[in-house]
This record gives sequence, C-alpha cells and structure tokens, in this order.
Amino acid sequence: MAELSVFRCISCDINYNINEIRYRCDCGDLLEVIHDLSAVIPNPVEWKTSVESDYGDIPFRRYQKVLFPSLPHEHLITLQEGDTPLYDVSPHFSQFGALHLKHEGMNPTLSFKDRGMVAGVSWANYLGCEIVACASTGDTSAAMAAFAGVAPNMRGIVLLPKGKISPEQLAQPIASGALTIGIETDFDGCMRMVQELTQKHKIYLLNSMNSVRIEGQKAIGIETLHQLKWQVPNWFVIPVGNAGNISALGKGMRELYDLGIIDKLPRLAGIQTEGASPLYESFKSGYSPLTPQQAKTTKASAIQIGNPVSFKKAVRELKHFDGVIETVSETQLMDCKARIDRLGISICPNSAVAVAGAMKLRDADVIQEKDEVVVILTAHGSKFSNTAVEYHQDSSNKFANQTQTIAPDIKELESVLKL
Ligand SMILES: *Cc1c(COP(=O)(O)O)cnc(C)c1O
Ligand SMILES: [Zn+2]
Repeated sequence: MAELSVFRCISCDINYNINEIRYRCDCGDLLEVIHDLSAVIPNPVEWKTSVESDYGDIPFRRYQKVLFPSLPHEHLITLQEGDTPLYDVSPHFSQFGALHLKHEGMNPTLSFKDRGMVAGVSWANYLGCEIVACASTGDTSAAMAAFAGVAPNMRGIVLLPKGKISPEQLAQPIASGALTIGIETDFDGCMRMVQELTQKHKIYLLNSMNSVRIEGQKAIGIETLHQLKWQVPNWFVIPVGNAGNISALGKGMRELYDLGIIDKLPRLAGIQTEGASPLYESFKSGYSPLTPQQAKTTKASAIQIGNPVSFKKAVRELKHFDGVIETVSETQLMDCKARIDRLGISICPNSAVAVAGAMKLRDADVIQEKDEVVVILTAHGSKFSNTAVEYHQDSSNKFANQTQTIAPDIKELESVLKL
C-alpha cells in the first residue's frame, strides 16, 4: 500500500520514500505527500456513492482514499474526530448570498488540530515511534497529547510558550498524560527548539511541518463540500497562523478537482491579525518572499505567528485558488466573536478573525453580494473563556453583556432585575 504515496519536495520535486522519517528535503525545503489518487479512485461517481454508504463511519476512514490511502487501517488511532456541524447563518448575515460556518471547534479536543493528528499519530503508530513531540500555541499540543495518550506505547512531549496559552489549553496536554514543558519564549522560539530536539533524538515531530498531518486536515474542506452535496461555494475563508490549514484546504480541493469529484474551484481568503501578518505583507506586494515578523500580542493567540512554517505551500495554494489575504483589528475580531457566540455557536478569537475578515472582504466588495461563503471556525470558545469574560465586562465594547454582583438579598435582586 505504501507505494501509493511518496514525499515530494515542493521546490526541487525530488521524491523520498514515504516510510522514511523525514520532514524536509535535502535542499531544506518543505515536503508534501503525493498519492497516486487516480489509481485509488479510478471512478469519481463510484467514489461519491461509496462515501454515502460509509456515512456512519468516522470521516478519516470515509474519505481515506483521498486523504491518505497508504495508512494501514489496523494502525489507525482515532478519537472519533470530525463530522462537525456546518451552520447556515445566512438569515443573520443577509449581505452574503449564503454564509456557512464550519465548526471545527466541535472536535474531541475542541479544535481542528484533531483532523491532522488522526493522520499524524496513526502514522507514528504505524512507524513504531514511541515518542512524539510538538511545539504549540495550545491546540496542537492538546490534540497530539490526546491521540498519543490512547496510542499503544506512545509518549507525547509538548513545548509551550510560557504564559502565552489559555489555562484550558494548558490543562489539556497535562490531563492527557503528555510531558508538558513551558519555555520562556514565544511560539517561534518553541518551534526552533522542537526541531533541534527531533533532529538530535529519536523523537517524531508532529508540528504541521510534518506533511502527514496536512493530509488529515484535508478532511475539513472535503467534508464541507460533502455536506453541501458537492456544490462548491464561491469562497472558503480561514484564519492563518503557520498556514498549514490553508495549505491543506487548498491541496484537498485541488485533488478533488483533478479527480473530477468537483467541477469548479472556490476562491480562498486567509485572514490574519494586524499585529501578526507576514502572509498579508507578502500578498500585498505580489507574493514577495517571506519577511519574518516579531508577532504582536493578540487575543487570537493561535495565530500569533511571525514566521509561518508553511508559507510557501500557502502561497502556492493562494495563487492556484485566486486567493486573497486580509487582516483584522482586535476590536473587529472580538466584536465578531460576540456576535457569533450570541447565535449559540461558541467560537474562539482565532475563528472570529476569519468571520471578521469575511465581513471586511464583503464590505470592500471583494466577496460579492451573491457569493456563497464558508468560514472555517478553528476552535471552540470554551478554550478561551477569559477573553469572553474580559470582553463582556468592559461596557465600552459594542456587544458587552456585563455581569453584576450583589448581596444575597432578594430585594436587591429584584431591584437589579427591575421587578
Ligand atoms: C492552529 C490554529 C490556527 C492556525 O492554523 P495554521 O495551520 O497554523 O495556519 C487557527 N486557529 C486555531 C484555533 C488553531 O489552533
Ligand atoms: Zn528540495
């Protein structure tokens, strides 16, 4: 089965054996996993019928032929990730032809990172790796720790930027049994350390530079299209940090298109914060080479990244999908979060970046009046409860819903309630 897939360098096109533990080409550039998909799926109509009859199964297995056909079933480590809701919020946002929110926060560890880890940890399990590691802005470590925690004979090591992730996100890898280490640096600093660690020792790296994870994340776009009955929307809008997820989204849809499963391509919009916008800066100057930034603090801590690992892959997908990059301010993103939370859809600040970006692109008429739009929500609001409490406590915020504290006295309660 393994011959169906190879690692291929994104710049010099050299192939490497998929069973090798390798994250980069000898030339130093990123690798991607290439499958012989037309051998696996000779007939797109039959494939569509097969995914209907597989509907009760987990998405990774249902879509595995397009995701990662080389992974043997018996090595799969799953937490029943995926099958996340696709909300139609068009009635609340009539400025769009249609607006759908794909809520990847409704995964087992409350973020989309589970989609990549089912592939990454299963592959580590297949390769017989006993120690896996990652640097994280919070969600990667939560997902890796949870999957590694249930794999036989596997230990997770997690490097976190000290004081820069939410208490909920810190609790996750600890509770899942991973060795959890806070480092007095930012994410980019943790990333450098974990790369050196995994180069020197027999430890398997599970950051998104590991291209196996990207293959699992393709499921987000594919499942969304399936939910839309294979009717391709005009736009997919997604928050961008390390740019692995936007690369996965593009790769998955390119592959579906090449197989003849879909007959048109959507456009892609990647959204960053104003203080951490290396991809935006490149986009503005016609995709100039990456200039790493010192990312500024943002409520969207998962995308506070100044040196995105998957920059080149993302640019390639953006060009292929006639993409755009936009940025949003802290006020815009937090106001947007409050609006979506009010609809019973609890989202994280990173997801709100994408929603706010969609609004901004619509205001600028880049997204047009009749366009159908899917926004990828990347994590659940419950991972970032502090940001919501702080926002609602400050009456100067547009959608603030302040709490009040009173004595245990019914008269006082009645007076506050104006009864
Ligand atoms: C990881 C993450 C992102 C950014 O994804 P990239 O692949 O790094 O661009 C966005 N939102 C959340 C909640 C995340 O955990
Ligand atoms: Zn190369």
